[in-house]
Amino acid sequence: MPKDAAARVEKLRETLRHHERLYYVLDQPEVTDAEYDALMRELRDLESRHPELLTPDSPTQRVGGKAREGFVKVAHSAPMLSLDNALDEGELRDFDRRVRELLRGAEFQYVTELKLDGLSMAAHYRDGQFVQAITRGDGLVGEDVTENARTIRSLPLRVPSKLPQFEARGETVMNRRAFERLNAERDERGLARFANPRNAAAGSLRVLEPSITASRRLDYYTYFLQVDGQPAYPRHWESLEELARMGFKVNANRKLCRDVDEVLRFCAEWEARREQLPYEIDGVVVKVDSIAQQQQLGWTAKAPRWAIAYKYPARQALTVVENIEVQVGRTGALTPVAHLKPVEVSGVTVSRATLHNEDEIERLGLQIGDTVVIERSGDVIPKVVRVESHGSGRKPFRMPEACPVCAGKIVREEGEAASRCINANCPARLKESILHFAARGVMNIDGMGEALVDQLVDRGLVHSVADIYGLTLAQLVSLERMAAKSAGNVIVNIEKSKQSPLPRILTALGIRFVGERTAVFLAEAFGSLDRIAQASVDELQRAEEVGPKVAESVYQFFREPRNQELVERLRTAGLKFEYEVVRKKGGPLDGMTFVLTGTLPNLSREEATRVIESAGGKVSGSVSRKTSYVVAGEEAGSKLDKARSLGVELIDESRLLDLASGGRA
Ligand SMILES: [Zn+2]
Repeated sequence: MPKDAAARVEKLRETLRHHERLYYVLDQPEVTDAEYDALMRELRDLESRHPELLTPDSPTQRVGGKAREGFVKVAHSAPMLSLDNALDEGELRDFDRRVRELLRGAEFQYVTELKLDGLSMAAHYRDGQFVQAITRGDGLVGEDVTENARTIRSLPLRVPSKLPQFEARGETVMNRRAFERLNAERDERGLARFANPRNAAAGSLRVLEPSITASRRLDYYTYFLQVDGQPAYPRHWESLEELARMGFKVNANRKLCRDVDEVLRFCAEWEARREQLPYEIDGVVVKVDSIAQQQQLGWTAKAPRWAIAYKYPARQALTVVENIEVQVGRTGALTPVAHLKPVEVSGVTVSRATLHNEDEIERLGLQIGDTVVIERSGDVIPKVVRVESHGSGRKPFRMPEACPVCAGKIVREEGEAASRCINANCPARLKESILHFAARGVMNIDGMGEALVDQLVDRGLVHSVADIYGLTLAQLVSLERMAAKSAGNVIVNIEKSKQSPLPRILTALGIRFVGERTAVFLAEAFGSLDRIAQASVDELQRAEEVGPKVAESVYQFFREPRNQELVERLRTAGLKFEYEVVRKKGGPLDGMTFVLTGTLPNLSREEATRVIESAGGKVSGSVSRKTSYVVAGEEAGSKLDKARSLGVELIDESRLLDLASGGRA
């Protein structure tokens, strides 16, 4: 059927172009690599069976693991190393034996360095100035990513160097925190998560738009200094020291080792501590230190004989899925979670793994009772990689028809992977909303954790997010496991949160697709919450990075009566809906001087000082005519008398917080 084939080929090309644009240009992929590959395979098959349909502009004609459209290919000055691997102690000892044989008993040292899990890159400098960055590519030819690399803050643009030109090779990585934030942001915006920090780093370095790279917070660690493709110093260790001296980031966790036993101790030590590192590592690189000895050892066809990568075992483990339970998120989305027979994976005991949604369970072919392979790959919550064997009494998982928390109706909309509880009053949704609202980086209400939120909702103290602004110290103290001191801290942190700038409030509202970044763009474009709430879908799209999907979501959010009520209650509580571009000087307490005396009910002296200073005020030790207010607590001493005699106004803690959050003096 050549006619059908022609139509299908056209359709496939159109679809692939669409996804290519999302992936390469907009960096917002909608499909997984596997789905994309399947489409590409189908097209390639059809084209090979119908060569008459092949055209030069077909997507098959530019893919091949080579440079992407928009990046220029550049040859490396010398091949970028690809090292042999040692998978266990035995293989590392074999490597050491070969080195010793070839060096015929000469003295030598090894340099051990952590093997960061990122994307290798060569940064070129001329007259001390950064001029070009090239990805590793296939080792011989890479892609010119100069403009993107320039946005990496740890890559110096100018360095003090005696060398007229050199190249600093290293690894571009994304640290765990940046990775988690990026994925959280992508969740918010309904985009696919990155599987691990390495993919995130690679994806971020290779986008066409440098401002996206800039927003991703990449890091660059150097480990090689070369001039004209040759090592610049007689010893590798010296190169590392020189790089550090010039101001490059060089991993401090490195060591000069006298023998293989010392190397193995280094490997074991960091394998035990790898979870504590801010970035991912997958092993240790071991190199012979002396360049002369490196040259003596030479190369095999594929790799140097003077270096090896000692790889840590994959962080996988086998365990049994004992149950699958459903969690209800803030948007009402139901997430199936596997409850596992506890198992240790690289030093951490794992008892739960996310299964994302029903489709994922189907894809895995997973049933309760099965033995599965789980893996930790950067994410805090591990995932199930595959089913290893079927359990004898295995039971299929069924998505519940009613919400497991409120028994409300569950709906799965067409084209959506997630099923949702649509009851807006669902306690599970409320709890998640409060946790999101209070989270660090959002409203920063420290102490408002899961245990507290559970009690607040279960005891009926909080029916809406806005209710947290009506909580009293007495209510908190009445809760289980809540000491007066920590209850006081929570109250103080709730008060402080009223000073949060508009982007944080926008993020805190939990509008679908509005994460931290989008919130800033909206705030900048409209200047106040009310103007955002009143804007039409078209107007909303004037904000940077806000497309029709996000605009529609924001628009609908503010049309919902429950959300309107929430906004009004937050306004009454004293939250600031105007977006003030950070003022150079102070805040509500600008120009005021405070004296603290006695014991305040909640704030320590240090905290009270911080509250005053962060609002632009000053704290003084003694009362004078210049004192604006004396903040008096219990057992206030002579300062109280002094204040009275000078006629300085006395205030209490809650009045202070009121003033600091912009209340009228
Ligand atoms: Zn529910």
